Amino acid sequence: MVKKRELIPGDLTDLLVVANRHTCCICRRPRHPVEKYQIDENPSNNEWNNVAVVCRNCRRLISAKGHLGARYAPGEVLRYKLDWEQRCAEAGEDDIDSPVEEIHETRTIEGDSHEIYVFEMDEGDELVFSIEASDPLDVVLYHEEDAEAWSDGEVDEEEKGEDDPLPAGYMHLTAFAECRERIFTAPEDGRYGLLLVNWDDESTEVTIDAAVWEVEE
Ligand SMILES: [Zn+2]
Repeated sequence: MVKKRELIPGDLTDLLVVANRHTCCICRRPRHPVEKYQIDENPSNNEWNNVAVVCRNCRRLISAKGHLGARYAPGEVLRYKLDWEQRCAEAGEDDIDSPVEEIHETRTIEGDSHEIYVFEMDEGDELVFSIEASDPLDVVLYHEEDAEAWSDGEVDEEEKGEDDPLPAGYMHLTAFAECRERIFTAPEDGRYGLLLVNWDDESTEVTIDAAVWEVEE
């Protein structure tokens, strides 16, 4: 069971992740999924200065409090956060590695339904994502053109992947509740869809973090 997390209502959620360049304020390694961490560990306190944007690894180091491996006191996390946000605010667009598209949200997917996120990508761009769901989901990543051909019945049997009803080249993950970090590199320019399918009758709460990073020069 995934721990339920409150989100900052409305646009503030996105703004906070954007203000941190979609990058962990502690280790500052770009191109990894991020999470939001309430510094006082009160999940309903979503004051700006109580929510730090961190990667999964640093999150584990913070919340190991009271155990071996605890590395950061609450005051330290806040200092990292404020320092990083200030640097991000002062830096120009290109001075710090930043994603060209990003999404970070928690939402409910009703039973027997799906959700699609579409990303414009150039050849070589990387889509880095992680998904946590309260109940298992299927995830399919596809090129929009392929999906049209496929739904129009234009993909013949030979082109389909082995043991998979989808054409080769799709990323297809079945029945998972937690997908940690996946990287998809666009084989060509185009629009790519990330499809989350809830086959179950019951609704599922999903937290998705995804960002498109341009190919590194
Ligand atoms: Zn980190």
